[in-house]
Amino acid sequence: MKTSEIMAKLQAKHPGESEYLQAVQEVLESIEEVYNQHPEFEKARIIERMVEPERIYTFRVTWVDDKGEIQTNLAYRVQFNSAIGPYKGGLRFHKAVTPSMLKFLGFEQTFKNALTTLPMGGGKGGSDFDPVGKSDDEIMRFCQAFMLELWRCIGPDEDVPAGDVGVGGREIGFLDGMYRKLARQYNTGVLTGKGMTWGGSILRPEATGYGALYFANLALKKIGKSLEGQKVSLSGFGNVAWGAAKKAKQLGAKVVAISGPDGVCEIKDGITDEMIDYMLVMRSSNRNKVEDMATKFPGKAVFTPGKKSWCVPVDIAFPSAFQNELSKADAEELKKNGCWAVFEISNMGCQADAIHWMQHNGILFAPGKAVNAGGVATSGLEMTQNAEHISWTADEVDRNLHNIMAAIHEQCVKFGTQPDGHVDYVKGANIAGFMKVAQAMLEQGII
Ligand code: GLU
Repeated sequence: MKTSEIMAKLQAKHPGESEYLQAVQEVLESIEEVYNQHPEFEKARIIERMVEPERIYTFRVTWVDDKGEIQTNLAYRVQFNSAIGPYKGGLRFHKAVTPSMLKFLGFEQTFKNALTTLPMGGGKGGSDFDPVGKSDDEIMRFCQAFMLELWRCIGPDEDVPAGDVGVGGREIGFLDGMYRKLARQYNTGVLTGKGMTWGGSILRPEATGYGALYFANLALKKIGKSLEGQKVSLSGFGNVAWGAAKKAKQLGAKVVAISGPDGVCEIKDGITDEMIDYMLVMRSSNRNKVEDMATKFPGKAVFTPGKKSWCVPVDIAFPSAFQNELSKADAEELKKNGCWAVFEISNMGCQADAIHWMQHNGILFAPGKAVNAGGVATSGLEMTQNAEHISWTADEVDRNLHNIMAAIHEQCVKFGTQPDGHVDYVKGANIAGFMKVAQAMLEQGII
């Protein structure tokens, strides 16, 4: 297998699908050498099969806004790979959603889920519905109309969606409510991220951020450091950044920046618990403006319009908002200001040339599919609790999450340790995830 040949064919077949092609390229580059040591993979054409989704549903969602006007959105569910379990992965509601975006996310999800040690395949879905500026009623009506179509494509042992950008606890509530009504099934665990009183797992809202910080701590421990006393920046202020801020603070780090599409908020003295709670209020307002933090905490949070978190001097940066949010120029600025580690919590948060640059310029880098896997892993734990008809305690969930992040870190070290002893986390995560999925596909024959 040659990455360049496979990529040329994919580019011709899927022109313009830039995010999808970027995600595939990153994985193929990492695994090429290992793949070529396994002629049985090549014989079964594993790569050609693995890069294409098994199935994509496309559907129209029509709903009525508060003015009584009829709105139409496009929606999708990409069932990417079921070799190691039912399709599993979130739903993204964002105006920029396209099949390319969901294919990249479904592809990444397949390897991420393989890393979690749990039996989950990869999927992703969503819509070009833009939640910004919508009322709660409009969000409910959209979620209900969306589920009217989606419900026949999913099931607790078939495909289990969850949240992602633009889909949090409120949206999962509206989606699950409609699913229950349509399917007349009330303990199915067909969605994860549910409310605590109706089948949700304790700590699921926090899990992506908590898991990321556990992973970072393990990677730092490996090089004789810790999070204690480090200055860190996050991007965004959504569910992921919220959980990461909470755990970073608990582990003794100082969060000095969060951001939004409107700019960055610098918090020189470190984020407080009150500010962390306020992130939730900001998200549910649907305004999508980080400036609101500075308005609420004048003098403590200072807003600069049009800037990203990466201009604030830190030791460690945690991209936690959206794909390609950190460019090579951002990486250079971070390094100039003293940053020495970047842990990607967003899916594909760093551009390809930024990753290459960081890896060659002494910045410790770990990719989203390893760092952010605690979210979907805890979704897997929610599925287990639903199947057992039981709720675990916070301690139990946290212990499991911690063990899973440690197992993911171990796999990265196993497959990513280079001859000079340093760990290439990109290679490690990609090879570990790939080997598991490839082996399962091989054993299941040509299907
Ligand atoms: N959207 C999250 C992710 O990118 C969570 C998916 C899930 O819980 O199924 O992994």
